[in-house]
Amino acid sequence: MNEYDENNKNPEENGPGPETEGPEKDTPGEESKGNGPKDSGREQVCSMCHRPESRCGKIMRLPGGLNICSDCMQKSFDVFNQPGGFDINTMTRIPIARIDLRQLNNNGPQRQGVKKKPAPDKKPEEQLKFSDVPRPHRIKAMLDEYVVGQEKAKKILSVAVYNHYKRVFSDAKDGVEIEKSNVLLIGPTGSGKTYLVRTLARLLKVPLATADATSLTEAGYIGDDIESVLSKLLMAADNDVEKAEHGIVFIDEIDKIAKKQNMTSRDVSGESVQQELLKMLEGSRIEVPVGATSKNPMVPTAMVDTKNILFICGGAFPELEEIIRNRLKGSNSIGFASELGEASKSADQILAQVTMDDLRKFGMIPEFIGRLPVVATLETLTVDYLVRILKEPKNAILRQYQKLMAMDEVALEFEDDALELIAEKAMKKETGARALRSILEEYMLDIMYEIPRDNAIGRVIITRDYLEGKGGPRIILRGMEQLPE
Ligand code: ADP
Repeated sequence: MNEYDENNKNPEENGPGPETEGPEKDTPGEESKGNGPKDSGREQVCSMCHRPESRCGKIMRLPGGLNICSDCMQKSFDVFNQPGGFDINTMTRIPIARIDLRQLNNNGPQRQGVKKKPAPDKKPEEQLKFSDVPRPHRIKAMLDEYVVGQEKAKKILSVAVYNHYKRVFSDAKDGVEIEKSNVLLIGPTGSGKTYLVRTLARLLKVPLATADATSLTEAGYIGDDIESVLSKLLMAADNDVEKAEHGIVFIDEIDKIAKKQNMTSRDVSGESVQQELLKMLEGSRIEVPVGATSKNPMVPTAMVDTKNILFICGGAFPELEEIIRNRLKGSNSIGFASELGEASKSADQILAQVTMDDLRKFGMIPEFIGRLPVVATLETLTVDYLVRILKEPKNAILRQYQKLMAMDEVALEFEDDALELIAEKAMKKETGARALRSILEEYMLDIMYEIPRDNAIGRVIITRDYLEGKGGPRIILRGMEQLPE
């Protein structure tokens, strides 16, 4: 598990939500209270007989998202206890040893969740309309509230997203069909690629699924099938296919599925995954397991059209800079002076000159790159950047700590050089902004433990000396705040 996964586990991470998130979800955790699922606009359906709970009685929820009524549970025990196969639709034994699992899936009745009639006091759920999609400058302004810097990437993303939804809501009657504008985000680890996409989906109120390209393998091999990404999206959309079809899928670590050089065996997690992703990125109807991430005869499926889903891929592409530098050197016949000019450019400036050809050299297949026509590069985070990330975003980590302390009626402040120390420490970890929270958490433990002890404390100022272990924080007692320090 990488640090990103760990971040996801922490609900207070200043990322706007969990790995898959959809708008208008019921309070998380309600379902696990044992009172049955909360009213999410759908009635639970038995995954086997497809009867809704109102008809088949109490439904049990099994691991893997499987719902099963007590009748089917009993029947499956009976059938599984005998050798041979069984027909999932009629729940009778069939006298063959091998069953075509796909056949079972396709022959079933409508396998999606049955929609309940909306409660009279609840508005019918609204689908996304073009008028709901903010203009690019508004999208960028909203992103600015949460994402520090990365100006170019935010601008490119805002336009790409706006054009994407224009395309979704346009018709091709005049023969002009707008092409898909899937996006490729290139930037170092922890520079905010996932965070940008999450923030975007949350602001646009569209469902989002994030996946790691390294966990995907060619169908039939150990690992997640490509469709698992769409299953997650469907879950984030509360199993509403139409809503999922307007959603966003973010596939991270896409550079890890580059074509392996000098491969002798089958490249099941590299080039072939790129090949399999092609049709999904382009737009096609894909059969997706509902409520689980793998196909299985017990799991219902739904057809999802990916033509209007926005795919955003992200990766650090570590050796790309070298490839671009070599190209720039080679193409520059003017000589020594210009070569020097290129050499003095920063990694970010070089990366910003990336071309499709560089990505091909890196190991991405041309068809794959062709389906990601919008490319944005992110800047490496510097100490200044990290300090801004600590304090500027709407839900910055410092603000979160200040809010916690404010509940004890204590004002919390950080001196600038204390923040710099935290940023310097984070830089050393080379995981971008990800390290900030854990470093701060370590320093804040004693403060959060000791301060609530003493009701007289009104203000705490964290100094660099305190962080370096050279003294305590500056403490100001209640009623003394106005006195000169
Ligand atoms: P990446 O996907 O590029 O590896 P992430 O998006 O997961 O990095 O970033 C890790 C965390 O760092 C995010 O959850 C976010 O809290 C913080 N972060 C990174 N970049 C920024 C930024 N530019 N502005 C605000 N927070 C950021």
